[in-house]
Amino acid sequence: MKQQLDRSIVGADMFEKIAGHEQVVFCNDPASGLQAIIAIHNTTLGPALGGTRMRPYETVDEALEDVLRLSKGMTYKCAAADLDFGGGKAVIIGDPNTDKSAALFRAFGQYVDSLNGRFYTGTDMGTTMDDFVHAMKETNFINGIPEAFGGSGDSSIPTAQGVIYGLKATSQFLNGSDHLADKTYSIQGLGKVGFKVAEYLLEAGASIYVTDINQDLLRSIEQKANQTTGTVKVVDSADIYRVAADIFIPCALGGIINDQTADQLQVKAIVGSANNQLLEAKHGRRLHEKGVLYAPDYIVNAGGLIQVADELYGPNKDRVLAKTKAIYTSLLEIYKEAELDSITTEEAADRKCEARLQEQRTRSHFYARDRRPKWNIRE
Ligand code: NAD
Repeated sequence: MKQQLDRSIVGADMFEKIAGHEQVVFCNDPASGLQAIIAIHNTTLGPALGGTRMRPYETVDEALEDVLRLSKGMTYKCAAADLDFGGGKAVIIGDPNTDKSAALFRAFGQYVDSLNGRFYTGTDMGTTMDDFVHAMKETNFINGIPEAFGGSGDSSIPTAQGVIYGLKATSQFLNGSDHLADKTYSIQGLGKVGFKVAEYLLEAGASIYVTDINQDLLRSIEQKANQTTGTVKVVDSADIYRVAADIFIPCALGGIINDQTADQLQVKAIVGSANNQLLEAKHGRRLHEKGVLYAPDYIVNAGGLIQVADELYGPNKDRVLAKTKAIYTSLLEIYKEAELDSITTEEAADRKCEARLQEQRTRSHFYARDRRPKWNIRE
């Protein structure tokens, strides 16, 4: 019988904490100061894929919680975008402003390489491609590479394109037409993604309300509007939730649908790129009760991820845009299923992802790959 493990040795219920994850790797390199955690959540669909975040976490527990949550999210994101990748993520414990060095990222690259293709990674909050240029000296399992290094470049282009497909699908579901021109939109954040979406809507002749804490971006979008048939109105950051527009497009921060804002919203739908827009699942249910159609963020903002995954087949912008178009069909299916079964769109999206994972498990079994042990040692 298996010996009962004294759990105090590995810390309180560590295995319970990582239950649901395939593998968690603690990387410790005193010479470079690297302390990192790589979490591989699920590789049913293919090797794990997910960025590497660097943050001055106050405790190892905090870093572990973050990497476990984010890597699980990647399994769903990859499944939803129909990618042959699983979910993974890495966190480096340290201050991105003071603790970076070439040695640290080379050491991290060695750890990634040691996983021998089970985990592909690239930039996330707190890391840049300049950091990964060092990691790339140690491993080939890096993606989201700049064009100058043979990669696919700026991922905000397909992400913005995905938001536009999301807006079209939403319009189709609500109005029976995917024309965007004759509607009003409120956009939070005019950064790399939000600005491109705003430009597209103005060129289509739509009316948009915008907010950003960066005044230069607000001036730029006003100048852009003057060259189009669309109109723009700038509103204060706090007022964006109260704008009576058709669709709210969050492209700045997470957690913006919360107890306070859910009741302020006067829109018919929410479709944006920001990650983790719902502070908690209950806020998705609140929107559902209010009759506000919510496009799950991880479905809408998958364009960048699609590009990063596609890069492994060689950069090709047309192929990426063609794959990104699937967001339109996927979102429509989710809306219809949520309506049919009276569930939230988040629940319908999660269900779709779980079904894809289940289907893949069945398929592997059906094809009955050679499952003999690799080492055929005679007794
Ligand atoms: P970005 O940093 O370029 O833009 C964010 C913008 O939001 C900035 O202009 C910033 O000034 C503004 N902002 C910050 N706080 C604000 C506030 N309180 N009110 C109004 N505006 C505020 O980021 P991005 O690349 O455009 O991404 C936007 C969102 O989409 C982020 O949540 C990001 O995580 C998510 N996302 C981006 C991509 C991508 O490919 N870039 C992919 C998936 C998800």
